[in-house]
Amino acid sequence: WKNAPATLREVFLNGRAFGPREFMVHEDERATFDAFARATLTLARQLQADGVGKGDRVAVIMRNLPEFPVAFFAAALVGAIVTPLNAWWTGAELEYGLTDSGTKVVLMDAERMERLGDHLANCPDLVRAYVSRLPAGAKPPAIVRRLEDVIGPVNAWTNLPDAPIPDVALEPEDDATIFYTSGTTGKPKGALGTHRNIVSNIMASGIAAARNFLRRGEEPPEVDPLTAPQRVTLLVVPLFHATGCHATLSPAVNAGGKLVFMRKWEPEEGMRLIEREKVAATGGVPTIAWQLIEHPARERFDLSSLNQVTYGGAPSAPELVRKIVETFPGSLPGNGWGMTETSATFASHLGKDYEVRPESCGPAAPTGEMKILSLDGATELAVGEVGELWVKGPNVVKGYWNKPEATAETFKDGWLRTGDLARVDEEGFCFIIDRAKDMLIRGGENIYCVEVENVLYDHPDVMDAALVGVPHKTLGEEPAAVVHLKSGGSATEAELRDWVRQRLAAFKVPVKVAFWPETLPRNANGKILKTELKKVFEEQE
Ligand code: ATP
Ligand code: MG
Repeated sequence: WKNAPATLREVFLNGRAFGPREFMVHEDERATFDAFARATLTLARQLQADGVGKGDRVAVIMRNLPEFPVAFFAAALVGAIVTPLNAWWTGAELEYGLTDSGTKVVLMDAERMERLGDHLANCPDLVRAYVSRLPAGAKPPAIVRRLEDVIGPVNAWTNLPDAPIPDVALEPEDDATIFYTSGTTGKPKGALGTHRNIVSNIMASGIAAARNFLRRGEEPPEVDPLTAPQRVTLLVVPLFHATGCHATLSPAVNAGGKLVFMRKWEPEEGMRLIEREKVAATGGVPTIAWQLIEHPARERFDLSSLNQVTYGGAPSAPELVRKIVETFPGSLPGNGWGMTETSATFASHLGKDYEVRPESCGPAAPTGEMKILSLDGATELAVGEVGELWVKGPNVVKGYWNKPEATAETFKDGWLRTGDLARVDEEGFCFIIDRAKDMLIRGGENIYCVEVENVLYDHPDVMDAALVGVPHKTLGEEPAAVVHLKSGGSATEAELRDWVRQRLAAFKVPVKVAFWPETLPRNANGKILKTELKKVFEEQE
């Protein structure tokens, strides 16, 4: 840990040391670490000229573009609290994010500016908006400046002058980011994270990697990042979520990794890029791994550079592990569990540990602790019992921005109440059962949606499946499934119900199965939007 960072400023300096090494690839645009550093420092100076200082909120709202890391680090270096907003939100939702956070300066792309439209005028704290990739001839409101007028286009960043690093002292306990939760169970909440939360996550993943070697009885190799081979990652998750930013971007900057951007995730384009850029790792959600495995054109691409296929953020079928091992020889499968509130990954495992426990998301990072409490939070449960997962560690944020009540409910005595049902075995491996809110209670019997979904996923015709509760007069609710079949799949409702009946208790068998014409609708983080799916059954009544 010669260059162990304590703040994002040190992460940035570690990145800058890689100078001429290539850092970002986006279509025909390429930027070295040097170009990235020049653009970042130039923008940081501009933000200071706008009056941005410690604790001010600077929002970043764009799809995955090379300007995103520049905006993120520029704002962090001047001491601002960087607030990435979900680029998929509507104009009204973006207005909520900008006003809730009290954003002073926003950096966005032209699509977001268009979507915000008149909403921009409703954000009282906003003094300046920088917009990248504005089409020629666009007539933006007076508050807007073209980002290219400050830093120029990506391929020209190398020519920017070498600006000094802002003279702003950053402490590990300073607030660094607000990331909004995915909004799967309610309105998104802004998780307020410190520099320590973010860097501890980078460090923990390094320690976890070393632990993997030790568990195999091998010595972890000594790695000097400046001379080690560059790690190339395909950026398949949005940078505006903690996984993209904290688990992918910051570690890449810190260790000199390369990021390959995509306009949007599309499996065939992903495989073309894996081949062309010799990608070693794809992070993301389980669906992405499935799409690669199932893709009819997969054999046409050389994917042999992949050495890790990892995912997290949503439940995955146990069968996926075996599929990865079969489909990508030489790649290690990996699963990780985390929340926005844990600054991305909290528990994870890779390779053999995961292969022999395909239902687990791994042990807590060596810096973290887990405990399982009864649902009322009153009793700590024994090893192996299912209850609510509580976690503690240096990557757990201190609370929600502007939401004292939600903070008091969720953060208690240094522990974070996760809302997930789980068990932890004798060796500390965690098994996520379901979200507490996703458990159905049918006449007093608990049904974990994930368990039924996994059985459906095992059916050879099923591509995508979700279990939802539909109201029932006397039982309270009953399970119903929404399924998307693989192309050529012909399973009927009766066949799928039989399939579950042969494998699970009768009360868990979906009373109805609806077929969805495409992959099930998901939010930007790959989580199935169950509220949308429930409407199918409402319409049937
Ligand atoms: P909101 O809190 O706004 O309802 P969200 O919980 O979906 O949204 P995130 O912070 O993006 O917002 O997601 C964290 C949740 O994702 C976890 O609480 C858990 O339910 C789920 N999750 C993450 N990783 C895994 C995993 N490996 N297996 C199963 N579930 C996972
Ligand atoms: Mg949550």
